[in-house]
Amino acid sequence: MKKVFIFLTFIVLSFPCMAQGKWSIALHGGAGAMSRDRISPEREQRYKQGLQRALDIGVAILEKGGTSLDAVEAVVVYLEDCPLFNAGRGAVFTADNRNELDAAIMSGIDLDAGAVINVGDIKNPIKAAKAVMDNSPHVILTGIGASKFAREQGLEMVDSGYFRVSKDELAMVEMFDKDKNEKFGTVGCVALDQHGSLAAATSTGGMSGKKYGRVGDVPIIGAGTYASNTSCAVSGTGHGEFFIRYTVASDIARLMEYKGMSVQEAAGEVIHKKMNNLKGYSGGGVICVDKDGSIALEFSTNGMHRGWAKSTGESVVAVFKD
Ligand code: ASP
Repeated sequence: MKKVFIFLTFIVLSFPCMAQGKWSIALHGGAGAMSRDRISPEREQRYKQGLQRALDIGVAILEKGGTSLDAVEAVVVYLEDCPLFNAGRGAVFTADNRNELDAAIMSGIDLDAGAVINVGDIKNPIKAAKAVMDNSPHVILTGIGASKFAREQGLEMVDSGYFRVSKDELAMVEMFDKDKNEKFGTVGCVALDQHGSLAAATSTGGMSGKKYGRVGDVPIIGAGTYASNTSCAVSGTGHGEFFIRYTVASDIARLMEYKGMSVQEAAGEVIHKKMNNLKGYSGGGVICVDKDGSIALEFSTNGMHRGWAKSTGESVVAVFKD
């Protein structure tokens, strides 16, 4: 009798988890004009390993019933620390040879968001973005103010040399097509957790050769980063000026909310139709997860470092279109 009681108690207590039970996660490590003949199979493999490790970190959190916010932050921290990607260590340089980093994070539960812009001494800008969201009344802090805040929050600070990696490590530069002068990167992650909540996080060094003080789409909520439990979570990568002008992430969410489109349709509509053939636009992509766990990965470039996994057991990492 006692055993039956314990069993029933267990069933009742775990019901909220079992009722939802499913989770989904997608990540990217940048989209751009990358070509297969510029990268050896070994190097492609290194990128895939980096993406897989990042994915495993997020999956482990979601599987255990952790929050989507924790998952996206942890994945982006890993990708910031990995020198292969254009975020944190390994970020691209501005025209005056410095690193100016942007990052943002958003919670789909209450549309809470935090971002930092143009920071060059915070080891993990995404942690600073999260601290802005959690511990300040603001959404965005920039430059010196953001650094001061990060220091006060006890985050790890580094000198500017930390972000520079050796030529060999900076495989990103070799991977992208130099002739086209289109060097993108950026890392991002979106997730749905077992409690039904969505979150998005994005971090970047921006576009290489950018002018002093330039701000891209990543820290602009609704442009490169967005999450709402009523629609989807989105993280973008690509030509930031266009992502800002077309409010890409928010547009995908609105098409779902107001027009009833699926996440796949909405992402396709924005990336392939609205942003098709725009003058001066060099392309880009998005990763999205909706409130039911469906995933959309759309890009107009010939590659996007990406990966996704679901509670169904499916899991993929890829670099090129095919
Ligand atoms: N979207 C980023 C920016 O414009 C760059 C990128 O994704 O590659 O700052």
